[in-house]
Amino acid sequence: VLATLADASLLKTQALINGEWVGGKSTFAVHDPATGAHLADVANLGEAETEAAIAAANNAWLVWRAKTAKERAAILLRWQQLLVKHADDLARIMTAEQGKPLAEARGEVIYGASFIDWFAEEGRRVYGETIPTTDTSKRYLAIKQPIGVCAAITPWNFPIAMITRKVAPALAAGCSVVIKPAEATPLSALAVAELAQRAGMPAGVLNVLTADSAQSIAIGKVLCASDVVRHLSFTGSTEVGRILMKQCAPTIKKLSLELGGNAPFIVFDDADLDSAVEGAMASKYRNAGQTCVCANRIYVQAGVYEAFVEKLAAKVGQLKVGNGFEAGVNVGPLIEEAAVAKVETHVADALALGARLVAGGKRAEGLGGTQFFEPTLLADATPQMLCSREETFGPVAPIFKFKTEDEVVALANATEFGLASYFYSRDIGRIFRVGEALEYGMVGVNTGLISVAEVPFGGIKQSGLGREGARQGIEDYVEIKYLCLGDI
Ligand code: ADP
Repeated sequence: VLATLADASLLKTQALINGEWVGGKSTFAVHDPATGAHLADVANLGEAETEAAIAAANNAWLVWRAKTAKERAAILLRWQQLLVKHADDLARIMTAEQGKPLAEARGEVIYGASFIDWFAEEGRRVYGETIPTTDTSKRYLAIKQPIGVCAAITPWNFPIAMITRKVAPALAAGCSVVIKPAEATPLSALAVAELAQRAGMPAGVLNVLTADSAQSIAIGKVLCASDVVRHLSFTGSTEVGRILMKQCAPTIKKLSLELGGNAPFIVFDDADLDSAVEGAMASKYRNAGQTCVCANRIYVQAGVYEAFVEKLAAKVGQLKVGNGFEAGVNVGPLIEEAAVAKVETHVADALALGARLVAGGKRAEGLGGTQFFEPTLLADATPQMLCSREETFGPVAPIFKFKTEDEVVALANATEFGLASYFYSRDIGRIFRVGEALEYGMVGVNTGLISVAEVPFGGIKQSGLGREGARQGIEDYVEIKYLCLGDI
C-alpha cells in the first residue's frame, strides 16, 4: 500500500536527531492493522540516543530562541504548507499504519496542519505586561520567555495531529522539542519530520525518537529524569499519565497531560432527534471509536428513548466496515488485537448484565484481517456495566434510559474522568444549566464534533492538565519572568 506514494522519500524508517537520520542498534516492525501485512522496519532507539537528542535540542534551543517570532513563523508556515501539499501521501501512510479510512486520514492531515499556522501566528502575540508601580523609583515588567527543551510523547489514534498540537506551540514560542511517537504509528511522525526538514527547521530544533513499546518506556524515563527537559506533554492513557507524572516529580517538570475520557452524550426529550442521531454517529464511530472524546455513554430521556434507538440503529446499519483504503468505508480496523479483545469483553459483560443487542456485537469477518469489529448498538445499558465505567475505545454505543435532568447530570458526572461531554436540547435555560453543571473540560451542545485549532482542548479531574490549541495552548511553553527596574 505504500508503493504508490507520489513522493517516496516521505517514507522514512530512521529516527531524526540533530538534523540527521539515524538508525539504532535494532529495528522494530510496523504492521497494517487492516491486513496484518508488514509495512516497514523502523529504528529502535534507546537511552543513549535519547541523551543525544536532548543535548542536540539544548544546543539548538539557543539558536532557535534567538530568532524573532516572525522568523520562526516563516519556517512554521512553510512546514504547514508542505503538510497540505503532501496531504495525499501523508494520508496513505497514516491509513496504512493506523487503519482509519483514507478520507478521515486526509482530514486529520489538514486538521494537524491547522495547529501549525495557528501557533505560528500566536507566537507573534506572546505579550508580556507592564504593572503599575507602587514605588515611583521603580518600574515592574512581566515578560514571557520560552520554557526550554520540551518532550512530547504521543499516541497512535491521531498520529499527526497529536504531534503538531504539541510541537507547533512549543516551536512558535521558541522551544526545541524531542518527540517520541507511538510505536504503532512512527511512519506518519517521520514523514512530518521530513517535511519540517524541508521547511528549513534548523538541526536539533525538532528531533524524533522512534522505539518499540519496551524502549518507549526506557526513553520515557530518560526524558522525565532529565533536568535539561523542562516540559513534558503527553497524550495517552490516564494510567501512563500517572507514571509519567511520578517520573517527572524529581525534576519538578511542567506537564501538559491529555488523558482518558468517558464522554457522556445526552439526548433530552426536547432535542432535535435527527440532529442528535447525526451527532452521535460522528462522535461515536469516527476513527472506529478510538478517540478520547468519543461518546462512551449515550443517555436518552424516556420520552424519545425508543425513537432514538430506532433511528440510530438505522444509521448504524448503513456503516461500511473494512480496509480504510477501500472506497466508501467508514469504519476501519482497531489498532491491535488487544483493542478488539477489550471491545469483546465490554460487549459480553453488557449482554450478561441485561443489555439488549440492537446491532453488531462481534468481530466483522471476511474483510481480509482479524481486527475489524461490527459497529455495535447496545440498548438498556446500566451503570453496573464495564462500558459505563471504562472507556471502550471501539465502535460500541451503549444507550442508557433516564427520566430527569438532575438524574442525568449526576450520572454523567459520576466518573473520575472529565474530558468531553455532549448534550442535545433546544431549551435555552436547560442549555445553560446543563452546560454549567457538567464537570468536563469541553461540552458540545447540539453537536458531536468540537475540535479545531482555535479552541482550548483539554480535560479536568483525571483527564489531564493544561489546554491544547487556542491562545491558551502556547502558555504551557513559556515562563513568566518578572523584571523589577529600580533607581529610576
Ligand atoms: P494508548 O492507550 O493510546 O496506547 P498509551 O498511554 O499506552 O496510550 O501510549 C501513548 C504513548 O505513550 C505511546 O507513545 C507509548 O509508546 C507511550 N508510553 C506508554 N507507556 C509508557 C511509559 N511507561 N513511559 C513512557 N512512554 C510510554
